[in-house]
Amino acid sequence: MGDLRLKDQVIIVTGSGRGIGRAIALRAAREGAKVVVNSVTPRRTCEAVAKEITDAGGEAAAVIGDVSKESDVRAIVSKAVEQYGRLDVMIANAGVSWAKLAVETTAEEWDGIFRINALGVFLCDKIAAEQMIKQKKGKIINAASIAAHDGFRGLGAYCASKFAVHGFTQSLAKELAPYNITVNAYCPGIVDTDMWDDIHVGMGPLLGLKPDGPKKSIDVFAAGVPLGRKETPEDTAALATFLASPDADYITGQSIITGGGITMV
Ligand code: NAD
Repeated sequence: MGDLRLKDQVIIVTGSGRGIGRAIALRAAREGAKVVVNSVTPRRTCEAVAKEITDAGGEAAAVIGDVSKESDVRAIVSKAVEQYGRLDVMIANAGVSWAKLAVETTAEEWDGIFRINALGVFLCDKIAAEQMIKQKKGKIINAASIAAHDGFRGLGAYCASKFAVHGFTQSLAKELAPYNITVNAYCPGIVDTDMWDDIHVGMGPLLGLKPDGPKKSIDVFAAGVPLGRKETPEDTAALATFLASPDADYITGQSIITGGGITMV
């Protein structure tokens, strides 16, 4: 790469203890950013990712916190501002997924996925925007999905939460454009992360797969990718860090799909 596109940019990446968020945090640090990493899960925490970054000579701070709680999101944004003096980029990446037919989904389960995937994005964006409006500069980048552009059997609640992110991204882009703040979303396809273990629990039976068989739900979905392979977290991170960079200064309100062609709009 050899290009410090993000030199001295202060970037928050939520849900960066593993998977796509971790790949974004590592790439942003390699491109010169000061990165505030965050996760909520005790396993594979953001603290380990912060250490990976600092061990490699980069700058990082870790904040454990739940993006669906306003006080936790305020603590994440405050950490960036207190430690590094400002906030240039908010990457609202944290999200969860599981599979269940709509008729079997409870109201509590629906609320649960919306609390993290939709309310969590709203809180991260709103609280980042408060800081960025003062600076008259900033970039907000949300994790949507191909499931923000198309419905999938067994993923009704997840798709609805990601369509919500897509719509909110467009509205917020129009509200914040006068302040020199862009708002975009990246829409990954079939990315090989731990999230698919959670999806497989419900999706496996819907696809007729044996619980302990060698074929997993991700393999069935990946078979439909025109470019012929699963997406890697690094594929997604390439788009997210582009959107964080000055190269994307004139792009706003867009939900851009990676995914190797699995969804075309
Ligand atoms: P993952 O499960 O591997 O990692 C999720 C991360 O988010 C973890 O670090 C976890 O601690 C954190 N997290 C979960 N709930 C949180 C909360 N309430 N507050 C703070 N952190 C929380 O998932 P991933 O595959 O890396 O997905 C990252 C994002 O990309 C999600 O928004 C997901 O919906 C989206 N996405 C993933 C795929 C895919 O195929 N994996 C496809 C499309 C979109």
